[in-house]
Amino acid sequence: MLVIRKAAELRAELQRHKDKSIGFVPTMGYLHRGHISLVEASRSAADMTVVSIFVNPTQFGPNEDFESYPRDERHDLEMLRQAGADIVFIPAVSEIYPEGNVTNIVLHSDITRRLCAKTRPTHFDGVTNVVSRLFCLIKPDYAFFGRKDAQQLAIIQRMTKDMLLGTEIVGCPIVREADGLALSSRNTYLSESERRSALSISRSIFAAAEEIERGCTDAAEIGAKIVKNIEEAGGKVDYVSIVDPFKLEDLSRVEGDYMIAVAAFFGKTRLIDNRARIDGKCI
Ligand code: AMP
Repeated sequence: MLVIRKAAELRAELQRHKDKSIGFVPTMGYLHRGHISLVEASRSAADMTVVSIFVNPTQFGPNEDFESYPRDERHDLEMLRQAGADIVFIPAVSEIYPEGNVTNIVLHSDITRRLCAKTRPTHFDGVTNVVSRLFCLIKPDYAFFGRKDAQQLAIIQRMTKDMLLGTEIVGCPIVREADGLALSSRNTYLSESERRSALSISRSIFAAAEEIERGCTDAAEIGAKIVKNIEEAGGKVDYVSIVDPFKLEDLSRVEGDYMIAVAAFFGKTRLIDNRARIDGKCI
């Protein structure tokens, strides 16, 4: 496994493997089994797997956790070695933004204004900024994103299509703890009691999905129950939305595919999760 920190070196290394297909897994590090599942998906689809570890400053708002975001490079490298990654790219900010942050790809679309964007208005501009730069550098055949960040996945899919990049964007299932909590690097911020409260998210969205499967179609009623469950557990709801899983438009009646998307605070930690039915299958 090669560890590369300079963009020019990564470009040169990839030149040497022009005949191979490249799978790419972008991350912010502090890796867990969720990230590793993306590496495994990449290894089964592509000849070579490139993983990036980069805590991207442009996707954090002014009062968010950029400085305190958890970092553990040694542990990350060990996990990636075991998972069989071929190249790990760990750039400094100056490698990704060598002339600052002037050129950006911004989606003028409702999918960048809904759900998380309401309270994190500049977040997805930062995400498309960094992912487009990494795609330009790496030119991956495939790129792997977790469905936990469903809005991010939808936005990257749209950006890739609009910019004719030709990279196949692969959405991968949410990896959870045995008790249902979706794995997240930010779970490390949770105290024991906050972690117990945070279980209300996965429990209530799974219960809601079952209710929908049993025939309930009233989105407002389903959403209100989720809000109540999370608040009773001590969480502060940012949003609970039942939306079309592709356009992310609010649904009033749930009759076909849907996504129940939630963001909530437990203490200072903001967590997101979702449960969806896509092509008739619950994921
Ligand atoms: P992050 O390091 O949080 O930026 O995440 C990097 C990638 O890992 C993103 O595509 C996430 O959606 C994905 N990811 C994070 N948590 C999970 C999870 N629990 N299951 C599956 N994928 C995940």
